[in-house]
Amino acid sequence: MTKITVAIDGFSSTGKSTVAKQIANYLGYVYVDSGAMYRAVTLYAIQNQLISSDHFDKKGLISALNEIDLLFKFNPKKGFAEMYLNGKNVEKAIRTMAVSNLVSKVAATPEVRKKLVQYQRHMGEHAGVVMDGRDIGTVVFPNADLKIFMTASAETRAMRRYNELKERGDDVSYEEVLKNVQERDHIDTTRKDSPLIKAEDAIEIDNSDLSLEEQFDTILNLVKKAMESK
Ligand code: C5P
Repeated sequence: MTKITVAIDGFSSTGKSTVAKQIANYLGYVYVDSGAMYRAVTLYAIQNQLISSDHFDKKGLISALNEIDLLFKFNPKKGFAEMYLNGKNVEKAIRTMAVSNLVSKVAATPEVRKKLVQYQRHMGEHAGVVMDGRDIGTVVFPNADLKIFMTASAETRAMRRYNELKERGDDVSYEEVLKNVQERDHIDTTRKDSPLIKAEDAIEIDNSDLSLEEQFDTILNLVKKAMESK
């Protein structure tokens, strides 16, 4: 069957990665979580005192970029690839609020984006890929066969993320999560380099009122159509 490239972009916590993983597993495609890469670079910056809530040594981070080795390793038990930073599994560490609070500042740095976009293009060289992020359909794969833009209200997204974090045992408040979602929306949509915008040819899906099954079926139908017309 013809293999295609699927780009799924959208705001924070729209559930992009959940559906992207489901679609990739169903089709036997590679799934790439581009946000995990920005999160891993942010974790590196935190661990090396290059960023905190009141300071960002951008130059220091740029000159350390060569020291940052990122790798996705498939975990058969979980059914998806986990993020490794300099040989260490950081899948859990990159999902904390400490990283979420700083990642959009790091992601607004053009040098960081240049490095990560290169890696993302390399991973998606061969069709049969589902990649999610903010600039996949606009910058990384402007010729993707199918582009989806996911939205939902900030409150819906914050509640979903809050429940996820609570389930993991993290000590957070809903207000804190909502504030983070709104702040990231603002930085991601207003940054100069590759801001989050809907590609002209992307199909917008508001999943505020969709169940996971409905969302999966909607996207799978779009994937099938895109395969037929390739
Ligand atoms: O997808 P996730 O919410 O994990 O992404 C974390 C952050 O990484 C986003 O808020 C955004 O600042 C940045 N990002 C980006 N470009 C991408 C993916 C993520 O700027 N393609």
